[in-house]
Amino acid sequence: MKKEALFWKKGMGESISCGLCRRKCIIDNGHAGWCGTRLNQYGTLYTLTYGNIAAISVAPIEKKPMFNFFPGTLWLSLGGLGCNFRCQGCLSWDFSHCDVNKSLSSTTYMTPEMVVRKAKKNKCKGIAFTYNEPTVWFEFVIDVFKLAKEEGLSTCYVTNGYMLPEPLEMLSRYTDGFCLDVKGAFMESYARISDIDDVNIIFANGSAAKRKYAMHVEIVTNLIPGYNSNDKEVKEIASWIFAELGKDTPWHLTRFFPYGHLKEVAPTPISLLEGTRKTAMEEGIHYVYISNVPGHNAIHTYCQTCKKVVIRRKDYDEIEIRLKEGRCGHCGALIFGRFQAN
Ligand SMILES: [Zn+2]
Repeated sequence: MKKEALFWKKGMGESISCGLCRRKCIIDNGHAGWCGTRLNQYGTLYTLTYGNIAAISVAPIEKKPMFNFFPGTLWLSLGGLGCNFRCQGCLSWDFSHCDVNKSLSSTTYMTPEMVVRKAKKNKCKGIAFTYNEPTVWFEFVIDVFKLAKEEGLSTCYVTNGYMLPEPLEMLSRYTDGFCLDVKGAFMESYARISDIDDVNIIFANGSAAKRKYAMHVEIVTNLIPGYNSNDKEVKEIASWIFAELGKDTPWHLTRFFPYGHLKEVAPTPISLLEGTRKTAMEEGIHYVYISNVPGHNAIHTYCQTCKKVVIRRKDYDEIEIRLKEGRCGHCGALIFGRFQAN
């Protein structure tokens, strides 16, 4: 649905400068911005996708992935149309990189009230925006999150971190969990993987989410062989997490599978994931997980003191939690995260 957008100002003539993401599009009358979701119509900027849902499901929070954040709870998970990145191996190409106008007819319209009602009806802990980049759906996300908080639900934002500081500040008022996709440490990697030209803002936003706004932050990196998997890059990301977010911040290393424009790249070898995890832990990061490898023991949460498993994940629907009031059920040490009261 068309609705006046947030974060824009008039430019020269009838042009508009969009202030939502780091692309900072200058949009002429009758045109949409880079993401395709924001249209300048006679000097006013509109979002075209308010309430238009491309994907919706009730799913475990572990699927975001978020592991130290209310483990074992269900979340109403939503995705819309469009993206401000063009990741070569994007798993949601169909709705992230579609022609937004053409694809609107294949979406389902819901108001924020309908979304919150559905979350409560399905006994969800909260609402997560995921699947596509929620920043290009910002007006809808904010309205849903505002209402969700009023209704006692938690909120989670799964993002590439490319928003400008003002939208992040607004988001922070209503957001509990911030799952940040870090695709590399260096500009060259980001340019190859996602077609963007500023990497610093992603790290600045991650730091602000944690330090300035006290959100629960987890980092996820899809390890793509030959793109972002070298030792130097891994150490750089690890040292940023350590210095800016803290050693307890979970880091998910997910296994890459050939997809989209990266069909020729081989799946990430398990040994590479394991080596990367080892490097990250040597750099001082405590909770380093390996995802997309069924049965791997790096999917569990280990107590940092007694080294025993405190959250065992057989798969995401079968989770055994050995915590008592946020402490290890074996030795009583504090486990980093946000947990359900028990
Ligand atoms: Zn313990």
